[in-house]
Amino acid sequence: MKCPRCWAHKVYLREVSGWKKCVLSLLLIRPLKCHHCYHKFHLPWLLTLGERLTPPPSKRTAVVPPASHSYAARYAAAMQHRASVAGEKRAGAKPSRGADAA
Ligand SMILES: [Zn+2]
Repeated sequence: MKCPRCWAHKVYLREVSGWKKCVLSLLLIRPLKCHHCYHKFHLPWLLTLGERLTPPPSKRTAVVPPASHSYAARYAAAMQHRASVAGEKRAGAKPSRGADAA
């Protein structure tokens, strides 16, 4: 949607709270704000149909997937875990054998 003052295509819905929000919604009026020149204005709801009224996600707010380890790193970690578990089993088994023999 274009701004009536600067003609930039950066007009999005504006947050309105309290009784103003209630009155504007009853009158089917949408509060808008230009993100280029900060001009605030109102439009009838019918004129905003089909327009994008939410700002596109910026690079800052875009959801970045969490960095996961590569397959090789996960495999190495699994092998280390397996080796440590096997080492604990061997370490735990030796005294029991010794106790059996003694
Ligand atoms: Zn503007």
